[in-house]
Amino acid sequence: MKEKLYTIEVVEALEKEEECPCCHLERKIEQDTICFVLGASYMEDDIRAVTDQDGFCRHHTKMMFDYGNSLGNAWILKTRMEYVRKQFSSQSKGKITAPSSGGRTAFLFKRRKPDTRFGTDPAKGTNWMKASEHTCYVCRRFEETYGQIIKTFLHLIRTEPEFFSTLQESKGFCLPHFADLYEACEREFSLQEAEKALPALYQLMERNLDRIQADIDWFIDKFDYRNQDADWKTSKDAVPRTMQKLVGTYPADPVFKQK
Ligand SMILES: [Zn+2]
Ligand SMILES: [Zn+2]
Repeated sequence: MKEKLYTIEVVEALEKEEECPCCHLERKIEQDTICFVLGASYMEDDIRAVTDQDGFCRHHTKMMFDYGNSLGNAWILKTRMEYVRKQFSSQSKGKITAPSSGGRTAFLFKRRKPDTRFGTDPAKGTNWMKASEHTCYVCRRFEETYGQIIKTFLHLIRTEPEFFSTLQESKGFCLPHFADLYEACEREFSLQEAEKALPALYQLMERNLDRIQADIDWFIDKFDYRNQDADWKTSKDAVPRTMQKLVGTYPADPVFKQK
């Protein structure tokens, strides 16, 4: 099967001239996925069978609540609850091993320690109860597309010199997305490709980290009374942009809601 490339989306994201084209695409995919989950898909049996079992992580549960559509949320929650209760009761009928020291106080105390009895296998012991942080339906759908987006960047860097020079003139990436891209280049590129691309990518990031540093420095300097009439330059929104550069996403975004 030929892998899907997101050439148009990647080029458009770069044209936005934001702090990170991957953040731009990440936001779009995440919002599209939330719309899908609480839009067309939640009455489809096959999708609900998956969300019943895999659940949603904390971050996406909050996003789903904020999005709205309480009836859609309620349907998803109803059958997820039924699945969880079924799991629970099948475990309580003999599969649970009681804590060895016994007694209520001892049990509560024990519960707060990391449970290493079951390893990380989600099917073992109580692991399934916290597995949704890793098996989250939205996270998984996002990761599939995000992987293809990174591959698209690699493809364009390799084959489109014009794209690569636009990228080098851009504002770069946030640190975590840069790390993903850089690791993928190291993994996939030939020695010759890597020798051309990797130093250029590092320079791109260094130049833009310097720019962000200057912005956040000037933001602080502006609070000095001697600078009160001075121009903000590009520092007015330095706080959310510096946050984005360091950790990704858009801290100043309003809550994403159903239209
Ligand atoms: Zn980013
Ligand atoms: Zn998630």
